This record gives sequence, C-alpha cells and structure tokens, in this order.
Amino acid sequence: MLDNLTQRLAKVVKTMRGEARLTETNTAEMLREVRLALLEADVALPAVREFIANVKQKALGEEVIASLTPGQALVGVVQRELASLMGADLGPEASQLNFATQPPAIILMAGLQGAGKTTTVGKLAKYLREQKKKKVLTVSTDVYRPAAIGQLQTVTEQVGADFFPSLTTDKPVDIALAALDFAKRHYHDVLIIDTAGRLGIDEAMMHEITAVHAAVKPIETLFVVDAMLGQDAINTAKAFNDALPLTGIVLTKLDGDARGGAALSVRHITGKPIKFAGVGEKLDGLEAFDPSRMANRILGMGDILALVEEAQKGVDVAAAQDLAQKIKSGGKFDLNDFKSQLGQMKKMGGMSSLMDKLPAQFQQAASAANMGQAEKSVRRMEGMINAMTAQERAKPELIKASRKRRIAIGAGVQVQEVNRMLSQFDQMQSMMKKLKSGGMMKMMRSMKG
Ligand code: GDP
Repeated sequence: MLDNLTQRLAKVVKTMRGEARLTETNTAEMLREVRLALLEADVALPAVREFIANVKQKALGEEVIASLTPGQALVGVVQRELASLMGADLGPEASQLNFATQPPAIILMAGLQGAGKTTTVGKLAKYLREQKKKKVLTVSTDVYRPAAIGQLQTVTEQVGADFFPSLTTDKPVDIALAALDFAKRHYHDVLIIDTAGRLGIDEAMMHEITAVHAAVKPIETLFVVDAMLGQDAINTAKAFNDALPLTGIVLTKLDGDARGGAALSVRHITGKPIKFAGVGEKLDGLEAFDPSRMANRILGMGDILALVEEAQKGVDVAAAQDLAQKIKSGGKFDLNDFKSQLGQMKKMGGMSSLMDKLPAQFQQAASAANMGQAEKSVRRMEGMINAMTAQERAKPELIKASRKRRIAIGAGVQVQEVNRMLSQFDQMQSMMKKLKSGGMMKMMRSMKG
C-alpha cells in the first residue's frame, strides 16, 4: 500500500534526519520534495498547500531550530502534520461510532457502486457483534440489483448477524422503515442500511439516499470510498458531503496499490473523520482508522502497533496460556505444540500481509519473495508433522532413520528436509525451556513494551 509515496517520503525523511543544521534553503528543498511526492500520490491540491504551509511555519519555528537534532525535529513536524491532515486533530474519539441514541443505532451507508459498501457492512456487522457485543440487523435498499441484496444476505449470514429481506418491488424508504420497525420489535442494537450505488454521481441516487436519510434519521451516515480512485475519490466525496450530513468516512482497498491520495485528502475536503479503513476482501479486513499510525506508515516508519495488534488477533490466547502452563509445570514441548505454534504463525494474517506494516528498512531486508518462501516452508513443516503418528509427535526422540524415511515419503519431501524440520523443532524446544514462563505471549509482550 502507498508504496511510491512511502518510498519517496522515506528518502526525504532520511535526508532530513541527517541534516545537522536547517537553513531556509535546505528546508525549502525538502518541502519541495514532500510536495511533489504528495501531488504524485494524487493528494488534492488544497490539502497539499495547507499541509506544506503548516510544516513550513513550524519548521522555521523555535521548537525545530532550537532542537539539538533539527532534522529529526522536522521529521516530527511532518509526521504530526500528516496525522493532523488525516484527522488527528479531531482526537481519538473521532473514529468511534456513535451509539448515543435510543436503540437501534442506525448506520446508513453511502457511496458509489463498487466502493465496497456491502463488504463493509459485513465487516462492520462482524466488528460490532464480536468486539462490541451488539445485536445487528442489516438491510439493503438496492432495489435495482437483486444480486446486491443477495450479496448482503450472504455476508450478513457469514458473520452471524440478522438480515432483513427486501423486495425489489418496494420503495427504498419503505424498506428502510420496515427494517427499522422490525429492529425495534426484535431489540436489535444496531441497524445497518446498505444503499444502491451508481457508477458515478447521479441525481436520482442522491435523491433516493437523501429520502432514506430523512425517513430514518441515522445517527451515523458513513461515506464509503475506494482509496484507489485517486482524484475521483475527492470529487465523489465532495458531492456526497454536499448532499448528505455525513458523520464519517470508510476508506476501502487500502491494501491495494492505492497511491494514497484519498487517505490524505478526504478528511480535508469533507471535514469529516475517517472512521475505518478496509484492508482486504475478507470480512476481517477492517481497521479502526488511526491518523497518527497511518502517518507513520506513509513515512515508512512502519506501524509496529498494528503489527502487534494483528499478531495478537491471530494468537489463540487460551492455547498460548495452556502451553505456558504446561512448560511451567515441567511439561515437555513436543511436536504437537510445535505444530500449533506454526499454525499461530500462519494465523497472524499470513506473514506477507504483515510486511507493509514494517518499517521500510525491514521491508527491504525481508523481501516479499522471502516471505512467500517462509509461508511455503511453514506449510511443508506442517505437512511433515501431519505425516507422523500421534506417538511420534508426543515423543520426537522416537524418530530415527526408518521413521524419517516414512515421514518424508508421507509428506512428499526429502529426508534432509525432515532433519531440518526436526532441528528447527529442537531449537524451538530449547528456546521454550528458556522462556519457560510464557512462550508466544511473552514474546508478544516484549515486542509491545
Ligand atoms: P458495493 O458495490 O459498494 O457494495 O461494493 P462491494 O462491497 O460489492 O465491493 C466491490 C469489490 O471491492 C468487491 O470485489 C470486494 O471484494 C472489494 N473490496 C471491498 N472492500 C475491499 C477492501 O478493503 N480491500 C480489497 N482488496 N477489496 C475490497
């Protein structure tokens, strides 16, 4: 994500850091680089202008000039201004959904066709059910595309929320009101209304969604926009913001090769906070938007927090605790445990998906090709462990030459590979002995702190 922008800015950041003295000339030179990088990434011109003006003013201010490391201080200014451009100045509550209303809290989704509305409804329903323990109902007012209604039903059922069926012969406003009535009678906490999009801004569509808005008076009206749209995203955002009292924005497809402009401009253009970022087609590909972390990511400073969160999400805490308990009480780390640890690694969202959250220097070190290799090798190791008997897994010391040959054949690998896997297992086992008090959990904590 945002690769080009990040690469260019990371270069500027590196130069800035190295500058022992900031003069008007070298500061201007750096700002010119930043400006070009932003424009190339499709950031809207007014947003770029304001950003550069703010950075310039602060760069020449006391705080930076008087700093022992002015280059570093300037990087700090750029980071903070980027974050504030994306809404950091609104405070951390800005990305929260508002539920302060008589239930059900209604969330109305707006956006063009293909922006990712329906997918986002599924993701939100999952998030609200699992993280916020809400009872969620979804409904579609897209009476023009029966397939869209079907798609909403599918994602809703996938995440275990309730779905209100709508007839294509009904009017969008009537459907929304019927769903609201149903939600009230069945004590739903949240009603999410998916609406029809069009390929471009169109008056009939705006009319329709405005009417639905007026009828149900949602507490949240979220504008869903595809981050890959570049400048078009900005124009669309403007049109929707003019027509509807938006309360927040969801930026989708930030996992793609978006140039990032939308992420940086949409808040400036609409004045509304970005509440969520879509980071994948799957229904767990949703992140609460954090401007400061996003700024770090864009500047190639990595996003260690997201990495740790992702890792923790993948980790089966109960399993990790069981393992810790077992080791602590003198139990032996066997191949079953090794396999479950391999499984954990895979669950951490796939290693390559963690890549773009690492700082730029690490990304270069561990190229995508290496990561793909690593994933493959985890799968092969699992294959070998699967080819073992239960007895062998519990007592790896039983595995001598003839058993190794059998396992190799069973897993379709060479005997040497079985040897290598067993020696990796040995390493892990002795590491576990050392850690004793907590394996994975302890490593996680040490990463965080
Ligand atoms: P709608 O027409 O606005 O309801 O859009 P959909 O929800 O049908 O999404 C359009 C396409 O975008 C689908 O292929 C989705 O899988 C895809 N999509 C949605 N959100 C994301 C995202 O965050 N990342 C990626 N990579 N794809 C997404």
